[in-house]
Amino acid sequence: MKGSLIYEGKAKRVYACENPDRVLIEFKNDATAFNAKKRSEIEGKGRLNCKISAALFELIELNGIPTHFLELHSETFMIADKIEVIPLEVVIRNIATGSLCRETPINQGTILTPPLLDLYYKDDELGDPILTENRLKLLDLISDSQMKEVEQITRSVNKVLKEYFDSLDLLLVDFKLEFGINPLGKLVIADEISPDNCRFWDKRNSDPKERILDKDRFRQDLGGVIDAYEEILKRIEKDSSNAS
Ligand code: UDP
Repeated sequence: MKGSLIYEGKAKRVYACENPDRVLIEFKNDATAFNAKKRSEIEGKGRLNCKISAALFELIELNGIPTHFLELHSETFMIADKIEVIPLEVVIRNIATGSLCRETPINQGTILTPPLLDLYYKDDELGDPILTENRLKLLDLISDSQMKEVEQITRSVNKVLKEYFDSLDLLLVDFKLEFGINPLGKLVIADEISPDNCRFWDKRNSDPKERILDKDRFRQDLGGVIDAYEEILKRIEKDSSNAS
C-alpha cells in the first residue's frame, strides 16, 4: 500500500499510493516551533494530531466544505487527495494573541469582530512573511476568484469550528489553514487541523497559562503538551459518542 516517500516536512511524511491521485500522510512525533529553531520529539503527538485532524476534516466535510481528507488508514496515517499545494498560510483570528500582539499594539485577549484574516507566504527560508494584498498579486500565487474562495472557505470553517469547540467548552482562538488543488481541479483544504496549527483555550480554566491546550505549551515551555492534545481528542470523542 505505502509507496515511495514523496515529501518530508517538519511534522509529516507524504507517501505515494497505488492510486496516483491519492497519497498517504504520516503524522510524525516531531515538534518544531519558531521556524524549526526549536525542535523536540513528543511521543504520541503524531497519533493525536492524525485523529484530531481526521475528526475535524469529517466535520468540515459534513458542512459541505471540501478538504483533501479521504479516510484514516491507521492511527498515524491518513489517505488524502494528492494536491498541488498553494504556498499560502491562511490564518484566521477570533481572539488576539501570538504574532498579532507582538507586531501590533492590540492587547492580548481582544475579541476580533469580525475575525481577522492574515495571509502569509509559505516559505521556510523566508520565515513565512506576512503578505499585503499587493504583494499577493505581485507573487501571482492564486487568481483573484480563487483568493475570494479561500477567504470564504476560511470564514465558513471558522464559523463551524468555533461553534463546535464552544460546545466542547473550548475557545477557538485562531488557526492556520493551507489549500491545494485536487486531481479534479477543485480548491480544497489541505495539511492538518490540530493543536499544532490551532489555538484552544479551556473555558473550564481561567488561568492564562493552564487554560492553553495547544502548541503554545511547547512554544512557551509550559510542559503538559501531550496531556493538552489528549484533552482535545477526549472532548471530541466524548462528543461523537454522545451524538451516536
Ligand atoms: N501557525 C501555524 N504555522 C505557522 C505559523 C502559525 O500553524 O507557521 C498557527 C498558530 O498555531 C496559530 C495561528 O497560526 O494557531 C496564528 O499564529 P501566529 O501568527 O500568532 O504566530 P506565532 O505566535 O505562533 O508565531
